[in-house]
Amino acid sequence: MKGESEELRSRIRELEAAARVLEPDLEEREQLRAELVATSERFLGALDSSPAFVEVADPALGLLDTPIGETGIDLDRALGVLEDQVLRPGGHPASGAHLAYLTGGGMYHAALADYLAAVCNKYAGIFFTGPGPVRMENQVVRWVADLVGYPATAAGSILSGGSLANLTAVVAARDAHELRGADYASAVVYLTSQTHHAVHKAVRIAGLAEAPIRQVALDERLRMRPDALAEIIAADRARGLRPWLVVANAGTTDAGAVDPLDALADVAEREGCWFHVDAAYGGFFLLTEDGRKVLRGIERSDSAVLDPHKSLFLPWGAGVVVARDVNTLTAAFAETGHYLQDAQDVAEVSPSDVSPELTKPFRALRMWLPLIHLGVAPFRAALEEKLLLARYFRHEVARLGFEVGPPPDLSVVTYRWAPPGTTPERADELTQKILDGVRRDGRVFLSSTRIDGRFTLRMAALAHRTHLATIDTALEVLGEQVAKL
Ligand SMILES: *Cc1c(COP(=O)(O)O)cnc(C)c1O
Repeated sequence: MKGESEELRSRIRELEAAARVLEPDLEEREQLRAELVATSERFLGALDSSPAFVEVADPALGLLDTPIGETGIDLDRALGVLEDQVLRPGGHPASGAHLAYLTGGGMYHAALADYLAAVCNKYAGIFFTGPGPVRMENQVVRWVADLVGYPATAAGSILSGGSLANLTAVVAARDAHELRGADYASAVVYLTSQTHHAVHKAVRIAGLAEAPIRQVALDERLRMRPDALAEIIAADRARGLRPWLVVANAGTTDAGAVDPLDALADVAEREGCWFHVDAAYGGFFLLTEDGRKVLRGIERSDSAVLDPHKSLFLPWGAGVVVARDVNTLTAAFAETGHYLQDAQDVAEVSPSDVSPELTKPFRALRMWLPLIHLGVAPFRAALEEKLLLARYFRHEVARLGFEVGPPPDLSVVTYRWAPPGTTPERADELTQKILDGVRRDGRVFLSSTRIDGRFTLRMAALAHRTHLATIDTALEVLGEQVAKL
């Protein structure tokens, strides 16, 4: 017996020694940190002068030349591969000149908060073991619920992004309406052609692939028409179907359009439908006076999604879902297991009771630290700045001769090159040509979409690093491309 234990002890000590590198000491930590920080500083230092989109052949393929092996490689070399293969190619959502897709940029404060959250590795799923992170998440979610205008009954959670947040809301809506498999084929969802595909995906993942989906007619500014919604619901009722869910957009991806939420809330309420607002992009514009006007009516929704990694400038990895009534979330998501018996009977609602997740990163810290430390005022200012930048851009791009879309509800502007006398097809070609030129130039990253079937350019100002100088550069680049036509 004694001999067996000794043998075990000696083998365990060997393994401990072999695994020791998993826990760097103070000096090693300092060294690691210095190298990683140096990489991040090189990245940030070059951000303003490097293209917002870097096109290379076979992006990141070189990663495969450095396979993961039984023994490691120097950190220097690993970081070299990282910088060259991963950080350099493709889009740079951290750049202020990324005016294509909706990116918040990624605040440095939040990045360091992530570092701290990961180092401390506090548990954020259940109050019993993670009272601090859970109370902090609830505090931050409450701040969002107040912003939306929800009553004290509201609750929510910080998920990985808008997709999971929308899924959470759709599942809560499904269960609140007590839909069962046999009901799915007659449970109608109302949205528009402008609705983000994440909502379609959420409906499907929620099991409702058979549910009829109605694309409600749009007004000339690409917003859902409340009269059309009322009409189509009435027609569905007459056919014996079950209108169930209305999804409104508060900031569409194409054009930044916000549906008339207050009027849609009237219809949803009258018809007994769950009213969900996808404000993944537009939500935090509620911090501004103009944004509050545009988003009026969001407070009447049953659930809403706001992405801090968009309009609150956080790095990727944060989407908030809030629901008016906490019970709709707990009914859909609260579960327990015998291994959780020590975690019962606490006053605070746990994220695991109101979302699909259990163990999750301590996400509240990345949102709380910037807000508590800097206060809300600079966020408000930055968002108002984006609204004005969009207005300014629209004005100036029209002066360059572009045909512009409607005045922006938020911070996306649509425009295309269609001088008098050109056919729509020719205008499509010329507009595409301009975009190709902008891509080659590289100083700013713009994107395109189709509106009413026509090739249209977009400019989305959202990152905290996007300022007047960026927009002036974008205008300069567009002007140069026009001159080349
Ligand atoms: C970005 C976005 C989504 C998807 O959110 P992710 O954070 O990318 O998962 C959904 N809806 C709208 C309106 C969006 O802008």
